[in-house]
Amino acid sequence: MATNQSKEVIVTQAIVASEPLEPLKPNYSLEDVDVYPPAEGDILVEVRAAGICHTDNLLCSVPRGIHGVIYPKVGGHEGSGIVRAIGANVRSVKVGDRVLLSFYSCSSCGQCQDQHPAYCQKFQSENYPGQQGFMKLHKTDGELWSKFFGQSSFSHYSIVAEQSVINVESILNSDDELKLFAPLGCGFQTGMGIIQNITQPKLTDVIVILGMGAVGMGTLMTAKIHDCKTIVAVDRIGSRLELAEKLGATHIINTKDLKNNSLKNTIFSMFPDGVNIFVDTTGSPTLLEQALESICKLGKLVVVGVPPTGYELSFDVTRHINMGRSIVGCIEGDCVPNRDIPQMIKWYREGKFPIDRLVQYFNATDFQQAFASFKDGSVIKPVLVWT
Ligand SMILES: [Zn+2]
Ligand SMILES: [Zn+2]
Repeated sequence: MATNQSKEVIVTQAIVASEPLEPLKPNYSLEDVDVYPPAEGDILVEVRAAGICHTDNLLCSVPRGIHGVIYPKVGGHEGSGIVRAIGANVRSVKVGDRVLLSFYSCSSCGQCQDQHPAYCQKFQSENYPGQQGFMKLHKTDGELWSKFFGQSSFSHYSIVAEQSVINVESILNSDDELKLFAPLGCGFQTGMGIIQNITQPKLTDVIVILGMGAVGMGTLMTAKIHDCKTIVAVDRIGSRLELAEKLGATHIINTKDLKNNSLKNTIFSMFPDGVNIFVDTTGSPTLLEQALESICKLGKLVVVGVPPTGYELSFDVTRHINMGRSIVGCIEGDCVPNRDIPQMIKWYREGKFPIDRLVQYFNATDFQQAFASFKDGSVIKPVLVWT
């Protein structure tokens, strides 16, 4: 086993994304990889578990060059594990500590200093492509792009930036929790932050959540924690809506049942004054446009689902002024992972943030099955477990 003095290369396994053979279809394969020892400011983590998020598939399938992405690369941007070695000047962890993994931020730009690390000036340039120089393919010696979101948790061992690590050694109750909390670093955190950090709703606000994946469920559970009286869950999968009701949705709308009636008409028939907070996690242009037209004066539309590249939303500016509406873009729920992830863990222990009902585990070697369950919507949050 590696120690903090280790200069050894570790041979391990990773899910490698090669150049896509078809547009927007990730080309994943399980490969032996060599992981280099950690350099200054970096940490070697033995990854225990990694959540799957839509951004993995998106940024492992875009054409080369889009968002700076180059192949072959290793994805994974929600994870947990154990520190096995540290580079020079790493202060926040020691070898053997258990950690959760989240996005990278530089800690020094204005937004980072202002406690908005999700809007770090380097967020896109560092997180989306990652970097070379930390891992290579064992069979060909070909350098891989890793440090995706500072971590590349789809590798059994990975070099992680210290800024991407949350030390949970003192707050974990068991190793099972290390597995369960692996997906807190992106999807659930984003949903939580939409309520906790971005919208801070009043009790009487009508909240509509479009798309009940991990982000939507995180939004729902947090709105419930904030005692919001009207929370509407919208999806096209019945089982997700049933689960949403159990987790606190007061109304559900199945878009498959809408037939000729639009989502907007259905919402106005339920809430004639319109919606105070509309959260779109789908990125569907048609639904996004109806969402904007469904909100009331001083209402907010939170845009978190990524629409097709280049899509532009247009609106009547005079009407927009008169209504005092806001359209808010959202990355990572404007969360500070070191502050907001322990908050979600506290709520989980109080029974208010039951992610155990939303997670399904897969052996990392069964990754194809895990990705398929994610794509067809049958599993809300697949978590790959390395053994
Ligand atoms: Zn920054
Ligand atoms: Zn994500």
